[in-house]
Order: sequence, then C-alpha cells, then structure tokens
Amino acid sequence: VKQNSKNNYAVYNKKLENMSLERRIIENAMRKGLNEHQFFLEYQPKFNIHSDEIVGMEALVRWNHPDLGTIPPGKFISLAEETGLIIPLGEWILNESCKQAKEWQEKGFGQLIVSVNVSVRQLQDPKFVQQVERVLKETGFNPKLLELEVTESIFADLNCITPILKRLRSLGIHISVDDFGTGYSSLSYIKHLPIDTLKVDASFVKDIHKNEESKAIVRAIINLAETIGLKVIAEGIEIEEQVRALRNDGCIFGQGYFYSRPLRKEAFEEYIRSKGF
Ligand code: C2E
Ligand code: CA
Ligand code: CA
Ligand code: CA
Repeated sequence: VKQNSKNNYAVYNKKLENMSLERRIIENAMRKGLNEHQFFLEYQPKFNIHSDEIVGMEALVRWNHPDLGTIPPGKFISLAEETGLIIPLGEWILNESCKQAKEWQEKGFGQLIVSVNVSVRQLQDPKFVQQVERVLKETGFNPKLLELEVTESIFADLNCITPILKRLRSLGIHISVDDFGTGYSSLSYIKHLPIDTLKVDASFVKDIHKNEESKAIVRAIINLAETIGLKVIAEGIEIEEQVRALRNDGCIFGQGYFYSRPLRKEAFEEYIRSKGF
C-alpha cells in the first residue's frame, strides 16, 4: 500500500510539473502574441428585437496563432487571468474596441454602444479606472457609448468591486451583468449595485420556447429588471421561436447567431452597410 501511494504521488507530481510547463509555454506564447499583434477582435451586433434596429455590438477577442490558427477565448482567457496577462491584454482589447467604435461613429454608423468584456481580475486591479480613463482620452471615445460586461463573479468581492463600478459609472460608462442567472448573485443585492443592464444567460434562452422553467426564469429576470429600472438583453438567440418568446415576455434587446455571428471588422462594416447605413 505504501509503495502504491508513493507511486501515485510521483504520478501526480509529474502531472503537476507537466501542467506548469504547459502553462509557462502558453503564457510565453501569449506574451509574444501580445507584442506581435496576434490578437484581434470580432464584433457581434446587438438588436432591438422589436424594431430590428442595431443598437450596438459586443467585442470578442480571438488569438491568431501563427502555427495553430485562430484560438477562441475559452482556451486562453482563464490562463490570462491566472497569470495576470489579462491586464495588458484587457487594456489592448479596451483600446482597440473604443478606437474601432469611434471610427465607425465617424463613418456615420450612428450612436452604437460598444460592449467590452471585463474580467473580475481587471476590476480588482488598482489601476483599472486609470486605464479606462487613459483609453477614453487617447481614443476620444464618448464614455456614454461604452458598456463593460462583468460576470456575476463580482458578487464574490462586492466590497472591493462596488466602488470601482461607481467610479466607472460616474464617467458615464454603462455596466452590464453578463451570464445573469447562472452565478450566485443574491437578488437582494442587485438593487444596490451600480449597474444598468442584466444579460440573460444563453442557457435560459436556449429552450425558452419549449421549457416552462426557462421561460419562468426569463420572465422573473425581466420583471426584476423592470421593477428596479434595469435594461435586459438576451444572448444566444439562434432561432425565430426564441425571438418570438422573448418578445412576448417583454425582452427588448437581444443578440445571437439568429441575427449574426461575431464578425471581423471588415465583415461587420459590410453587414452594417447592408442594413442601410
Ligand atoms: P460571453 O461574454 O458570454 O460571450 C458570448 C459567447 O457566445 C461568445 O463566445 C459568442 O461568440 C458566443 N455566441 C454568440 N451568439 C451565440 C449563439 O447564438 N449561439 C451560441 N452557441 N453561441 C453564441 P466566444 O467569443 O467564444 O467567447 C467566450 C467567452 O470568452 C465569452 O463569453 C467571455 O466570457 C470570454 N471573452 C470573450 N472575449 C473576451 C474579452 O475580450 N475579454 C474577456 N475578459 N473575456 C472575453
Ligand atoms: Ca459577454
Ligand atoms: Ca454571456
Ligand atoms: Ca459566458
């Protein structure tokens, strides 16, 4: 038995070693990628699902690795968070989003709101607000057209995060709670939070047209939002039936493959022009 557990330990150790080696390799590759401009953004349009007007777009990061091709954020964001690389990467994402949105505004695409995903790790960084202010100054972007999407994981550290969100909102920036309903947000806290929008998680949208429980959850979120004066957007809309159900339940905004996949900037521009701008 003793021998056995020793072996297990050795195997376990070996695994850990390999893991940290792998992590270091990826970390270095990301650092290099950041220096060599391998990251890029796609933009997914957001709609008023009643008027079908485009109201804005969500910026989503991708990594174009020279050997591996395009890597989705699900494969590198958590490592970027763990290593702290999310701080410089996040600043690049914010800057790129504001610069691009400003350019589109100047091309006459209207007052589109650009939404940028922000990790809790970024919000916890003491320099985050300064970073945002710097980006706004350098790009000349109107803060009222900037929305930051944060996840419910902010609820784990509300004492630290709430004042940050307040400062961001005092700059005119909007705050949206992403993946709403999946985390551990206590509803009683919601009304005290300095936020503007709840983003209904795609998992509830998925079967809203055929599952009473999902429908009930979405309705509850919409009611809650209306009562305390928040906007609601549904994500992950893939089919017409979902749009119809969401409209009936009083949801105003939505995004998803039904309308458009996330698009590279050239394709996004074409898409907007095809819609009449
Ligand atoms: P998220 O913020 O919840 O983004 C929504 C994800 O769903 C995106 O995946 C989007 O491409 C995908 N999606 C959009 N419409 C549909 C649909 O109709 N059906 C389905 N099945 N999926 C749809 P993506 O781009 O792979 O991003 C995954 C996650 O990575 C994001 O989830 C977000 O948490 C994170 N992420 C992406 N970009 C950034 C970023 O710039 N910064 C940070 N911190 N995180 C990011
Ligand atoms: Ca998001
Ligand atoms: Ca989401
Ligand atoms: Ca998500």
